[in-house]
Amino acid sequence: MKVIKTISEMKEIIRKIKKENKKIGFVPTMGYLHEGHLSLVKEAKENSDITIMSIFVNPIQFGPNEDFEKYPRDFERDEKLACNSGVDYLFYPHTGDMYGENFKTYVEVLDFTDGLCGKKRPGHFKGVTTVVLKLINIVEADVAVFGKKDAQQLRVIEKMVEDLNMNVRIIRGNIVREDDGLAMSSRNKYLSTKERLDALALRKSLILVEELVKNGERNFEIIEEVVKKFLGDNFEGVVLDYFEAVDYSNMNPIINLKGEVLIAIAAFVGKTRLIDNVIIKML
Ligand code: AMP
Repeated sequence: MKVIKTISEMKEIIRKIKKENKKIGFVPTMGYLHEGHLSLVKEAKENSDITIMSIFVNPIQFGPNEDFEKYPRDFERDEKLACNSGVDYLFYPHTGDMYGENFKTYVEVLDFTDGLCGKKRPGHFKGVTTVVLKLINIVEADVAVFGKKDAQQLRVIEKMVEDLNMNVRIIRGNIVREDDGLAMSSRNKYLSTKERLDALALRKSLILVEELVKNGERNFEIIEEVVKKFLGDNFEGVVLDYFEAVDYSNMNPIINLKGEVLIAIAAFVGKTRLIDNVIIKML
């Protein structure tokens, strides 16, 4: 595996790969890698000839009071994990190279970013789509893999690719979880022992949702009531940020559940904000 630290060097390598008619699979990340990220690499490798992973903690997707500064970083560890999982090129650009002093261009997906994390983190998705577009342009990805863990992000990126006629195929990667159900996340590192237990509130709420739906419940207002009571009764230390259902095709809020529905939860466990979700295809 080769580590590439500049956009110009990355582009030089891409030119050679393209000349050989090889298919490029791309996995963008913010590093502090875990099995979730590595499962995306596996997916990329199965769908391409050369796999590129990027590690870039993108400043423009963090709000002023968010965790950009303290976001966990450990490049040496990431380098080993990426190499062992079969990444061919690890792209690790500097912020100054990605956003020069005179950077003026942003890309924004409307409507799809109105609810869920888009509502709670103003400007977040504008930062995400801008960096993802830049990265895909730099590495000229034929396929790019994104995790369903960030289900709104995935759908927003799919919409950008569709609307801007980008030449990349987006693959949806399944959520990888710890043994007890907690969705893997770089931010889990922030959790104390007590908070790590409280963090199960998210997955447990979603299991409750799945049970209710399985038993025929289709009214999201009722589901919401049951879940909020469950959280209040069992997880005092957890502060709900949002619990919402949207039609996953267009990200519109939905009460009478039908079609492909995304039910997403965000909650503060102590100071740490965690997200999780389930996508259910209603019969
Ligand atoms: P991040 O480094 O958190 O920006 O995530 C980089 C990519 O990994 C995104 O496409 C995420 O959706 C994906 N990802 C993060 N956590 C998981 C997980 N537990 N399972 C699957 N994919 C994940």
